[in-house]
Amino acid sequence: MAEHVVVIGAGVYGAAVTASLTRRGARVTVVDAGEPAGGTSGATFSWINSCGKQPRPYHDLSVASMAAHRKLAAEVPDGDWYHEGGNLEWAADDAGREELREKVAGVLGYGYEARWLSRAEVLRLEPDIDPAEVPADEIAYFPREGWIEPAPLIAHLLSRAGAELVRNDAVTGLEVTDGLVRAVRLASGRRLSADAVVNCAGPRADRIAKLAGLDLPMRNTRGVLIYTSPAAVSVSRVVHAPHVHLRPDGAGRLLLHTPEIDGAAGETGVAQASVGKVLAAGCALYPGIRAATVESVRVGERPIPGDGLPVLGRAAGLPNFHFAVSHSGATLCVHAGDLVGAEALGEDQSEALAAFRFERF
Ligand SMILES: Cc1cc2nc3c(=O)[nH]c(=O)nc-3n(C[C@H](O)[C@H](O)[C@H](O)COP(=O)(O)OP(=O)(O)OC[C@H]3O[C@@H](n4cnc5c(N)ncnc54)[C@H](O)[C@@H]3O)c2cc1C
Repeated sequence: MAEHVVVIGAGVYGAAVTASLTRRGARVTVVDAGEPAGGTSGATFSWINSCGKQPRPYHDLSVASMAAHRKLAAEVPDGDWYHEGGNLEWAADDAGREELREKVAGVLGYGYEARWLSRAEVLRLEPDIDPAEVPADEIAYFPREGWIEPAPLIAHLLSRAGAELVRNDAVTGLEVTDGLVRAVRLASGRRLSADAVVNCAGPRADRIAKLAGLDLPMRNTRGVLIYTSPAAVSVSRVVHAPHVHLRPDGAGRLLLHTPEIDGAAGETGVAQASVGKVLAAGCALYPGIRAATVESVRVGERPIPGDGLPVLGRAAGLPNFHFAVSHSGATLCVHAGDLVGAEALGEDQSEALAAFRFERF
């Protein structure tokens, strides 16, 4: 068994992999160039779902991941990061409605829970929505979906793990000899000898792979997240309306997003007018949001491997180097991180990880 494992990155994946490793008895050092949750995991919509995930192995991994979140939350009664409020979604035009019908038919065919609601049923769930903004019917409802708060989840996983956490010290080199990674070099000059290394560097995972001599194609995209001040408006679940997606974000705050303005995001921000447009869409849907102001706007970078699917598990050509990299990491992290940690310590996960191997590139 690997005695000392270095986990690179302290986002949701790094935290979940660390918890998996230490639970199995490994000694772990987690290294982050910044602070835990300071990367994409601190700027994400973090909707927990398997809504339209293709192909089937990706759907199944996501469903297993939803169950893993539910199980973890049940084991930690005072854990407050997991919210299974369900998800509502509807479309604005014929093309969108057809797409939604296909998606619902597809997930029902996989045995996933979904049903159609009328406007009256939606208003019973979300009484503060303006009825004029909701169609009379064909509102899809996915009752087992929800959202997580990544920062408390990361804090929980890391604080219970008993791992060494190295903050604000970037990995700058990997020592590879005779087909194995032997050590990890940090910007501070520190050298960490390693029996195994797990790459959980999110959108920078390609750079870490490069240090190991591996070429991981990534096609990351940016997304804009708008956090409001607290407002006395009742939003109890994830809502995907045509021009705004939103969910609660704690203490009465709401988190608003729409792919419509993601393309306009620079590295650190987006034009005020775009933010205003999303807030206006939120206010039209829930008039009570008018009492709120924009507290912050964050730009997150989605870590997306070249073909859109997760990259998980051991690199065949470098068998003590492992990947835990994907979009939808908020959904997948607890379950996928557990599989990756188990494999790093020699447990056979070949069936579970077959569809997500690095070697497919
Ligand atoms: C706008 C947006 C919306 C999203 N919505 C959803 C959603 O609804 N549902 C969902 O499941 N997912 C969603 N995602 C995706 C999800 O947030 C990510 O997949 C997940 O947060 C990735 O976590 P991570 O731990 O891999 O990466 P990160 O959280 O980025 O963590 C990686 C860490 O690695 C560190 N690092 C990088 N380079 C180095 C280095 N050289 N040395 C040391 N440390 C390093 C970074 O500092 C960082 O802390 C969304 C993402 C965005 C941007």
